[in-house]
Amino acid sequence: MYYSSGNYEAFARPRKPAGVDDKTAWFVGAGLTSMASAVFMIRDGQLPGNRITILERLELPGGALDGIRKPHKGFVIRGGREMEDHMECLWDLFRTIPSLEVDGSVLDEFYWLNKDDPNYSLTRVTHERGKDAETHNEFGLSDKAQKEMMKVFLATREEMENKRIDEVVGEEFLASNFWLYWRTMFAFEEWHSALEFKLYLHRFVHHISGLPDLSALKFTKYNQYESLVLPMYRWLLDQGVTFEFSTEVTDIDFAFDGDRKQATRIHWIRDGVAGGVDLTEDDLVLTTIGSLTENSDDGNHHRPAALNEGPAPAWDLWRRIAAKDPSFGRPDVFAGDIAKSKWESATVTTTGPEIPKYIQKITKRDPFSGKVVTGGIVTAKDSAWLLSWTINRQPHFKAQSPDEIVVWVYGLFVDTPGDYVKKTMSECTGEEITQEWLYHLGVPEADIPELAAHGAKTVPVMMPYVTSFFMPRQAGDRPAVVPEGAVNFAFIGQFAETTRDTIFTTEYSVRTGMEAAYQLLGIDRGVPEVFNSTYDLRFLLKAATRLRDGSEVELPGPKFIGNKIISHLDHTEIGQLLTDFGVVPEVGGTVQRPRADDAIA
Ligand SMILES: Cc1cc2nc3c(=O)[nH]c(=O)nc-3n(C[C@H](O)[C@H](O)[C@H](O)COP(=O)(O)OP(=O)(O)OC[C@H]3O[C@@H](n4cnc5c(N)ncnc54)[C@H](O)[C@@H]3O)c2cc1C
Repeated sequence: MYYSSGNYEAFARPRKPAGVDDKTAWFVGAGLTSMASAVFMIRDGQLPGNRITILERLELPGGALDGIRKPHKGFVIRGGREMEDHMECLWDLFRTIPSLEVDGSVLDEFYWLNKDDPNYSLTRVTHERGKDAETHNEFGLSDKAQKEMMKVFLATREEMENKRIDEVVGEEFLASNFWLYWRTMFAFEEWHSALEFKLYLHRFVHHISGLPDLSALKFTKYNQYESLVLPMYRWLLDQGVTFEFSTEVTDIDFAFDGDRKQATRIHWIRDGVAGGVDLTEDDLVLTTIGSLTENSDDGNHHRPAALNEGPAPAWDLWRRIAAKDPSFGRPDVFAGDIAKSKWESATVTTTGPEIPKYIQKITKRDPFSGKVVTGGIVTAKDSAWLLSWTINRQPHFKAQSPDEIVVWVYGLFVDTPGDYVKKTMSECTGEEITQEWLYHLGVPEADIPELAAHGAKTVPVMMPYVTSFFMPRQAGDRPAVVPEGAVNFAFIGQFAETTRDTIFTTEYSVRTGMEAAYQLLGIDRGVPEVFNSTYDLRFLLKAATRLRDGSEVELPGPKFIGNKIISHLDHTEIGQLLTDFGVVPEVGGTVQRPRADDAIA
C-alpha cells in the first residue's frame, strides 16, 4: 500500500489484483469502517460482493453512525457529525454510492446542499441564560498561550506521548476562547491526550479561521443513518454482501509461525448459539476493535440513562485478541478508565412553536426554515455541565412531523450538579435535562417545568467509552492496520493505527478500512494521503495570523531592529508571503495582495 495525492491516480481504475477470485472476506462489526472497507474491496479490488460477510452483534448496520426513532421514546442521535471537505477517503467512498435523495451520488447530494446553504454560526457562545457571550470570533490567546501551542505543534510525537493536555499548556491557554471553542467542538477534556491535541492541530490547521464561527464545518441533509449508512447498506446489499446480525464475535484464533501470523478461526454466538468459521490464508478477516458507543444506554423522558460498566463485547474481543501477540495493541489504555472517557448526550424533540421561539432568539434563524439553524454547536459557557446544543437543518429525520424540531444536547461535565436542576447530568431524566437546557436558553423560570414536561420529549444517552481514543497513549497502544507478518487479517476503525490522521472522525474509520482492503487484496492504487495543509506555508501563515486575532507578529528586540529584518525580506518571496498573509506590515514596496489564484479559502 502507498499514499497518493492529486488527480492522476484518483481517477485511474485499478487493475484486478492477482488471486482475488480465491478470496473471501469476513468483517467483524457493521459500522462505517467495515462497510466502507467492503465497498473498496468490491469497487477497487473487484472482489464479488457475494464473497463478503459482515458479522454484527446488533440488529442493524451503522454502529456509532446512528439516527433512530425508538418506540415509546422518540428520536435518538447519539452524536451529530461535523464533517469537512478534506475527508479524502470518505469522499472517495461516497462518490460511488448512489444518493437516496437526488439523481447522483451521496457526495453530489452533500456537495450541492452545502454549496447552496453553507454552514456558519451566528451565535457560537452564550452566557447569562441565553445572552450572546460576544466572543467576537476572537481566540483571546495570550502570548504565553500562543507559545505553548506553538511548542506542542513543533514537538515530536514522542514528546507528547502519555501526556495530558494540561501538562503541556497552562492556565492562560485553558482560560482562552480558543480552548472553549476547541474542547466543545471536538469534546476534548483537560486530562485527554496531548498527542491527540497535537495531531488535531496539524490535521485541521487549514480550518483555524473557520473555528470560531464553525464555517469550517459541513453537515449531511438528515441524520447520518439516513444520509450515509442507508445508501451504503443498500449498495452493499445490491452487490450481494451478506449481513449477519445478532452475531457476536467472541474470539479469533491465530497461528504464529516465526514472523508469519495467520487468523485461523472466527468464533461467534448467533442468537445464543455458538458457531464459527475456519479460515485459510485466502479467507480474510477484518476486525473492528473497540467501539466508542459500546454499552451506550438510553434513558427516556422519565428515566435517566444508566452507566453500563459491565462486560463490553467490542472491548472484550479486543482484549482476548491482544493477549495473543504484543503487536495487537493495548485495549485497556483506552477502555480502562470509564470516568475519564464517558459523557452524555440527549436528543430533545420539541413540539409546537413555544420552545422554537427561544431558539430563534439565540440562533437568529428560523428553525423551521429547512436551512442551517445553529450552524454547529452553541455553548452555554457558564453552564456547570458545559452544555452545548445544536440544531441541524430540519427535518433531521424523514419521519419528523412539521411542528417538531430535533435538537442534540451534550455536556462535557456530567458529574457536576446543574445550575437549574441541581443534579448531575448523569442523574437526570430526559425531562430534567430539558429543564436545564431551557434554563440556559433563557426561558423564564416559571415556564420551564411546563415546557419541559409537555413541549418536548427527550432521550438521554450515556456513552461510557465515547472519548476513549483521547486517553493519553504511546506508539504501539494501537495496533497497525495490518500488523507485521499478518497474511489474512487486519484491524480497522478508530483504534487501529494510521499515520497523520485523527480519531473521532468518520474519515478515520473509512481510512483504516481502505488501507486494510488495499493491503489485504493487494490493490494497486494509492490511498489518498491526509490533506497536506500542515506542510503548506500558506495555511500555516494564515493560521498564525488568525491565532493572534489578526495582530501582526512582533519580532523580539527593539522595533528598529525588527523593521530592519522586515525590510531585508522586502521584495523577496518570503517577504511577499508574510505580507500577503498579514504576518508583517506592508513595508517599502511590498503590498498585501489578494491571493486569488490559491485554493486556500
Ligand atoms: C457522539 C458522537 C459524536 C461524533 N461526532 C463526530 C463528528 O463530529 N465528526 C465525525 O467525523 N465523526 C464523529 N463521530 C465519530 C464517528 O461516528 C465514528 O468514528 C464512526 O462512526 C465509527 O465507526 P466504526 O465502524 O469505526 O466503529 P463503530 O461505529 O463503533 O462500529 C463498530 C461495530 O462493531 C460492532 N461490534 C463490536 N464488537 C463486536 C463483536 N464482538 N461482534 C460483532 N459485532 C461487534 C458494534 O456493535 C458496532 O456496530 C462521532 C461519534 C459519536 C458517537
